[in-house]
Amino acid sequence: MQTLTNRSKPVNRKPMTWLEKLYVWNIAKGMAVTFIHIFKRKATISYPEQKRSFSKVFRGLHILNRDEEGRERCTACGLCAVACPAEAITMEAAERQKGEEHLYREEKYAAKYEINMLRCIFCGLCEEACPKDAIYLSQTFAPANYGRAGFIYGKENLLIPNPKEDPEGFNKARGERVMS
Ligand code: SF4
Ligand code: SF4
Repeated sequence: MQTLTNRSKPVNRKPMTWLEKLYVWNIAKGMAVTFIHIFKRKATISYPEQKRSFSKVFRGLHILNRDEEGRERCTACGLCAVACPAEAITMEAAERQKGEEHLYREEKYAAKYEINMLRCIFCGLCEEACPKDAIYLSQTFAPANYGRAGFIYGKENLLIPNPKEDPEGFNKARGERVMS
């Protein structure tokens, strides 16, 4: 019979002997494969007790950055939302009032800032578009959730700790990807 690749093998339809029907040899072969793998390096880890470190260029969950004095950097210019190909970012701008200079760096700030993590494709374009170094993609990822609403991240989830109140949390949240 002519074949396309010459790789086909004829099926052996010979009836099995009583020794073959015991499958002892095949079980032994299978156990040998299992035994060999006991001594090989494991491909899996015991997550969440053990965690793999990410690549330096890994782009995970977003953070809204503060400056060294703890003021919010975002000025609600909307450039990140315009740059976002997934239309995942929405915001509402507000004007800074007298006496709020210690809270917001610019005269305008984001009263509401939301990212829909179900839409986000973690491309990093929002980070690149931001002129104020206000948004970064960190090296953590969005935890699992039971409902869709749990993946809408507001300012309360995105804004990093104030360095004056929690310097350790501030540095940890900024991670290695934040430039300033
Ligand atoms: S990472 Fe990409 S998809 Fe996600 S919010 Fe930013 S620009 Fe949009
Ligand atoms: S995060 Fe940056 S680009 Fe987006 S609104 Fe704020 S300042 Fe503008």
